[in-house]
Amino acid sequence: MSERFERPERFERPERLERSERFERSERSDLGVRAAELDASDELAKLRAQFVLDDVVYLDGNSLGALPAAVPGRVDDVVRRQWGELRIRSWEESGWWTAPERIGDRIAPLVGAAPGQIVVGDSTSVNVFKALVGAVRLAALSSAGRNEIIVDATTFPTDGYIAASAARMTGCELRPMDPSEVPSALGPRTAAVLLNHVDYRTGRLYDLPALTSAIHDAGALAVWDLCHSAGALPVDLDRHGVDLAVGCTYKYLNGGPGSPAYFYVRADLQPRFDSPLPGWNSHADPFGMSPAYEPAPGALRGRVGTPDILSMLALEAALEVWEGVSIDSVRTKSLALTDFFLECVTAYVPQGRVESLTPSAHAERGSQVALRCADAGEVMKRLIEQDVVGDFRHPDVLRFGFTPLYVGFGDVERAARVLGETVG
Ligand SMILES: *Cc1c(COP(=O)(O)O)cnc(C)c1O
Repeated sequence: MSERFERPERFERPERLERSERFERSERSDLGVRAAELDASDELAKLRAQFVLDDVVYLDGNSLGALPAAVPGRVDDVVRRQWGELRIRSWEESGWWTAPERIGDRIAPLVGAAPGQIVVGDSTSVNVFKALVGAVRLAALSSAGRNEIIVDATTFPTDGYIAASAARMTGCELRPMDPSEVPSALGPRTAAVLLNHVDYRTGRLYDLPALTSAIHDAGALAVWDLCHSAGALPVDLDRHGVDLAVGCTYKYLNGGPGSPAYFYVRADLQPRFDSPLPGWNSHADPFGMSPAYEPAPGALRGRVGTPDILSMLALEAALEVWEGVSIDSVRTKSLALTDFFLECVTAYVPQGRVESLTPSAHAERGSQVALRCADAGEVMKRLIEQDVVGDFRHPDVLRFGFTPLYVGFGDVERAARVLGETVG
């Protein structure tokens, strides 16, 4: 594949390419050796074997995580035996009914939550709605006159759309702004603030402890979207007193396309959490079939309707790869991968051709690198044709996600080298 793009250029401009080839060879051997050393001393390297992968450099796990090897067999069992043979009995006997809270407890340690605070189900979009309306209702319980929702203006669009609707429904004014402006904008009118832990475009990591604390000082509630942080870095929800949080499971948690999202409500808020979607699954006695609603205690009141069992149990199998893996070691490797990628990009990509939008400071970096590049759409197409898969974000961003469970340093070196050849 790569020849298709190299050959014509080589004949057209032999001099320039010879020079760059010489440069490339020496750099390549140095960085290649470094990559091999880093891979050899990587304690997480063995986890790659738990995924179904090939020779493609897969740097899009922040959009759709790779397939964990345990999933196909589990899905087969869920479909053929649990559904096909046990049929209705599986709601009890196969643990279908309690799957949302059981799998929530499996995600809990990855985001620093004690058990009993997370349920799995619905999409992130739906959970943003539950969390934000729930937060505004909680804020109204403690003080009147809180009629503003602050939202990250650069947020993933769905969060912004849902926040706008939640604001209309609750009679609040929506104030979109850059997260850095949030502390000075907080006041007695602020009901809730919806923020992303990591910006999906730039990979910027926001200071969750400091922002949560500022929001609390103003008497408002903090709602965090963890889509781009959970599974890639420590979140520590309980430690930082986050009120409500949501996140998807198909990115760094590898749950599969459209796998259900999760919803966290801090334990002490649960008795007062008033869900805007009080479906029968969140009822204290769902099979009592009462016309009167009475919310279940605990995290269960975040449930809505019948859970999507096939996706949910695929996710449960996918989460088994985390057995014995510490999120701190994942973070350490993630930073080493993105550091090394930035170093390789500097070495291989002609100066001025790309510009990193991702902060260089570790404290401000998620697990991705976003490079601004004039013809990013075309460049990403060519990278994918050469088996280096990242993604393109409109209008000019090349986005590379680094999933420490299965991306190695050799992958990183190869990706940067192919990028250099492609844009050079
Ligand atoms: C991926 C992502 C979503 C996805 O929402 P869905 O409802 O699962 O489509 C939402 N918010 C953020 C910040 C994301 O990164």
